Amino acid sequence: MSDAERSLVELEAKDDFVRRHIGPGEPQIQEMLGSLGLDSLDGLIDKTVPAAIRSASAMPLPPVRSEKEALEAMRAMADKNQVMVSMIGMGYSNTVVPGVIVRRVLENPGWYTAYTPYQAEVSQGRLEALLNYQQMIIDLTGMELANASLLDEATAAAEAMAMAHRVAKSKSDSFFVAADCHPQTLAVLQTRARPMGIDLIVGDPETGLAGKEVFGALLQYPGSFGHVRDLTPVIEKLHEQKALAVVAADLLALTMITPPGEMGADVVVGTAQRFGVPLGYGGPHAAYFATRDAYKRSVPGRLIGVSVDAEGRPALRMALQTREQHIRREKATSNICTAQVLLAIIAGLYATYHGPDGLTTIAGRVHRLTGILAAGLGRLGFAVENETFFDTLSVSAPGKAEALVAAACEAGINLRLIDGDRIGMSLDEVTTREHVERLLGVFAGGPAATAEALEGEAVAGIPGGLRRQSEFLTHPVFHLYHAETEMMRYLRRLQAKDIALDRSMIALGSCTMKLNATTEMEPVTWSEFSDLHPFAPLEQAAGYRQLFEELEGMLCAVTGFDAISLQPNAGSQGEYAGLMTICKYHESRGDTHRDICLIPSSAHGTNPASATMAGLKVVVVACDDQGNVDVEDLKAKAEQHRENLAALMVTYPSTHGVFEEAIRDICAIIHDNGGQVYMDGANLNALLGVCKPGEIGADVSHMNLHKTFCIPHGGGGPGMGPIGVMAHLAPFLPDHPVVPGVNPAAGAAGTIGAVSAAPWGSSSILPISWAYIAMMGADGLTRATQLAILNANYIAARLAPHYPVLYTGQNGMVAHECIIDFRPIKEACGISVEDVAKRLVDYGFHAPTMSFPVADTLMIEPTESEAKREIDRFCDAMIAIRHEIAEVESGAADAGNNVLHNAPHTHHLLMAETWDRPYDKQRAFFPLPGMQEDKYWPPVARIDNVAGDRNLVCTCPPMEAYQQAAE
Ligand SMILES: *Cc1c(COP(=O)(O)O)cnc(C)c1O
Repeated sequence: MSDAERSLVELEAKDDFVRRHIGPGEPQIQEMLGSLGLDSLDGLIDKTVPAAIRSASAMPLPPVRSEKEALEAMRAMADKNQVMVSMIGMGYSNTVVPGVIVRRVLENPGWYTAYTPYQAEVSQGRLEALLNYQQMIIDLTGMELANASLLDEATAAAEAMAMAHRVAKSKSDSFFVAADCHPQTLAVLQTRARPMGIDLIVGDPETGLAGKEVFGALLQYPGSFGHVRDLTPVIEKLHEQKALAVVAADLLALTMITPPGEMGADVVVGTAQRFGVPLGYGGPHAAYFATRDAYKRSVPGRLIGVSVDAEGRPALRMALQTREQHIRREKATSNICTAQVLLAIIAGLYATYHGPDGLTTIAGRVHRLTGILAAGLGRLGFAVENETFFDTLSVSAPGKAEALVAAACEAGINLRLIDGDRIGMSLDEVTTREHVERLLGVFAGGPAATAEALEGEAVAGIPGGLRRQSEFLTHPVFHLYHAETEMMRYLRRLQAKDIALDRSMIALGSCTMKLNATTEMEPVTWSEFSDLHPFAPLEQAAGYRQLFEELEGMLCAVTGFDAISLQPNAGSQGEYAGLMTICKYHESRGDTHRDICLIPSSAHGTNPASATMAGLKVVVVACDDQGNVDVEDLKAKAEQHRENLAALMVTYPSTHGVFEEAIRDICAIIHDNGGQVYMDGANLNALLGVCKPGEIGADVSHMNLHKTFCIPHGGGGPGMGPIGVMAHLAPFLPDHPVVPGVNPAAGAAGTIGAVSAAPWGSSSILPISWAYIAMMGADGLTRATQLAILNANYIAARLAPHYPVLYTGQNGMVAHECIIDFRPIKEACGISVEDVAKRLVDYGFHAPTMSFPVADTLMIEPTESEAKREIDRFCDAMIAIRHEIAEVESGAADAGNNVLHNAPHTHHLLMAETWDRPYDKQRAFFPLPGMQEDKYWPPVARIDNVAGDRNLVCTCPPMEAYQQAAE
C-alpha cells in the first residue's frame, strides 16, 4: 500500500466524507489506473507532475473532521456571532427571504449548482429568471436597459464611472462624487480612479459642481444620511457640460419615489440585496446596473436578451457575446466574469412573488414606521437633520452620539455612529413597532410614547413632487405567482428546463464543477451567519472572525503563502487586487515607473483586462506549439523591459491544462528583472497537496473558492477570489474605510484601499470552503488532486483514439483537464465544435468549455467528484458523436441535414405531424441505450444568436410569446 492509500484507510475509519466527495471507489480507481498502465495513484502523480515543482513540505492543516464534527464546529462559531437588530443602513438592509425561495432556490442544487448560461439551450429557466430581474431593474429605475448583475454596489458604481469616462463627450478626467454617497462606495471609487488617471472631487453636488469641469458624477438616492432630493437640477447641470449622471439608488425606495430615469439619469446602479437576499455579513448580493439603450454596447457584465430558436420560437441567451471580456482582452473595459447570478435570480423572484403591490406595501410600512420614529424623536427633543427621507434618519445629538449608540447596542439595536454629534438609523422590512418603541426608549432614557400614540403625528418624508407616479412591474410575470403553490410550481418549471449538476456531469475545463456538499452548504442560511450587518461592531462577529482566521490559515497552508485577503468577490477582482498590491509594493520602493505586465497569449481573458484596469501596459508573451510559455520570448521581453517591469501574470497549471516544467525558471527570470509574479490560481484543483504556488516563485495568487473550494457556481455567481501573498506584499493588501483592522499588516506606506464594498467580501459563503478543507484534511485534499488528475487522464485516454488530444505534458499526460481538437473535423466535413456541444444536449449533457483557450476545441475537466460510471457515460456520448461525425465525413449522412447540425432536438419536433429528417427518431432523441429512463428535453432548439443581437431585446417578451411557444 502507498502512503496515500494507507492514510485513506485511516480516514475511512474516522469518517467517510472524503469517500463521499470523491466519485470513484477503490475498484474503479484500480480499473482506471490499469487502463493507463499504472498501478498506483502515487505512480500517476510521479508520471504527471514534474519533480521540479513538487512540494517537499506537507500541508499543515488541522486533523480531518467528520461531517458531524464540521457542522458542530461551525455551529460553535455561529454561536459566537450575535445577531442584533440592525439599523445601520449604509446600503445593507434586513429582508425576509420568502420560505419558498429559500427552499426551492437558495438551498436547491437545481439552482445553485448550475453554470453560467453560455449553453443557452440548457439554461432557459435561469435565463428567464434573469430576464425577469432585468425587467424589474428597468421598471424600478426608469431606465431602458439593465444587465444581469454585478458584484456589489460599490464596484457597480466604479464600473459606471469607468463607462462614463469612455462614453461621455466631456474631455474632462474629473469625476464628482456626492459627499452623501456611502463611504465604502467612495473608497472603492478612490482605489479604481487612481490607476485610471481619474481625479475624484467629493462635495455637495448642489454647490460643489459650480466652476468644475467633470465627465460625470455619482449621486446617492436617497442619500446615505437619508435625504430624498430632486436630482433633476444637478443632472441638468451635468448634461450641460456633456457629463453623465450616475445615480446609486435604493430599489425599495424606488417603489415610492420618482425613479432616476425620469430625472434624466444616464446610469443607475445599486444593490438588490434588500430584495430577499440575506445580509450575510457583507454578501453575496447582486448589484444592478441600468442605463440608456444608447450605451448598450458599453455596459459591463452580461446582458440577457431575447432571440429565436431554429424552429422560430422565442428563446433567451446572453446577448452581445462578442463583447465578452475574454475576446476584448487588453482592450477590455471591465474584467467582470463571475457575477452574482443566483442572488440576482433571488431578487427578481422576490419581486415576482410580491408583485408591485406587495413591494409597495413593504416600502409603505418601512416609510410609515420611519415617520413614526421621527415623530417620537421630535417629541423627545431630538432634531432629525433630514426633513426628507424614505427609511433613514440622521439625528442630531451633540456630544451624546457615542453614548446613545452604545445604549442602543445594550438594548440590542445597532445604529450608525456618523460622528460624535450625529446618529444614523435605517429601517427595513423586518423593523417592527416594538423596535421603534425600544429605540425611542433608549433616546428617552426611560419609557417613551408608544408607536400607536405617535401614529397621528407620523412625519411624511417624501416631498410631494418626488412621489412616484409611474407604474412598474406591469408585466404579467409579476402578477401570476403571488400564491405559494403557484410560485412553487413556477420555480420547478424553470428549474426543470435547465441542466445543472443535479442532472449530469458538467465537465467544464477551467471552471471545476465539483461537488458542493450539503454539509458545506447548510451553515450559509443559518441566521448567525446570514443576518449580520457587515458594519456591525466587531465584537458581535467573533464567530466570523474565527472563521476568517481559520480559513486564512488553511489557505496559507495549502498554497505556501504568508497572508490572505478575503475581500475580492471573484477571481477577476482577486487579479485586480493582486496587481494593485504589486503596484503599491513597487511604489513603496520608489519604483513608480514600473508599469509593464507580461501576459502569455494563452491567458484567461480576465488577466489582460485586470492588468489594464490596474493601469499596467500589457506585453504579450508567445506560447509554443505545446501551449507552454515560450521561455526565450519571455526572457527577451523581461530583459527588454527590465527598467519598467512590474509583473508577470501566469496561469498554473497552464490554461492548456499542463504542468509547465519551466515554471520555476519563468518566475526567476521575472524576479531577476525586478518584476513580481502574479500566478492565476483560479484552478488549484490539480495542485493541492502536490505543489504550492508560494514555493515555486509566485508572489501573489488568487484562489477561486467557487472552483477548487466548493462554493457552487450559482449559474454564474456568487464566487470568491481571495488572494494569497508572500510576506513582503502583505502590508499592501486591501483594507476598509468603515471597519478597522481588515488588513492587520498595514503599515505606514498604506494599503491599496478597498476593492469591494464589504470588508471580507462575500462572508456568508466562506463556511463552504472552510468546511470542505476541514472535512478533507491534508490527505483528503491530496487524494482529491490525484483523482482529478486520474479522471482527466482517463478521459483523455478513452477519447484519444477518436479525437486528437492537444497539449500533453511530460510523458504524454494531462493535468486535471484535457483539450480535444475539432479543427481537423471542421476542415474535413464542416461539423463544428458548436454542433458537437449542441448534440451533447440530446445525450443529456452540458457541453465542456467551448473554444477556450483554443478556438474550435472542447476543454474537459471532470473533477474528482465524478464517478467512473458517469465519466464513462460522458465518454460513450462523445464517442457515439464521433461515429455520427464519421457518417458525415464519409457522405453516409447529409452534410447539412444531419443529427449534429440539427441538434438539439426538442419535444416540439417529436410531436410534429410530419417527420422529415433523414434519420429516425430513435437516433435523434435516444441515441444511446438506457436514455429513456431519464431523458432531458431541451425546451428550445438551437438558438440564433445573431438574430437576437441584430434586434436587441433585453426585456420580458409579452406573455403571448410564451403562450405561442408552448403550443
Ligand atoms: C475562472 C477563471 C478566472 C476568472 O474568475 P472569475 O471568478 O470568474 O472572475 C480567471 N482565470 C482563470 C484561469 C479562470 O479559470
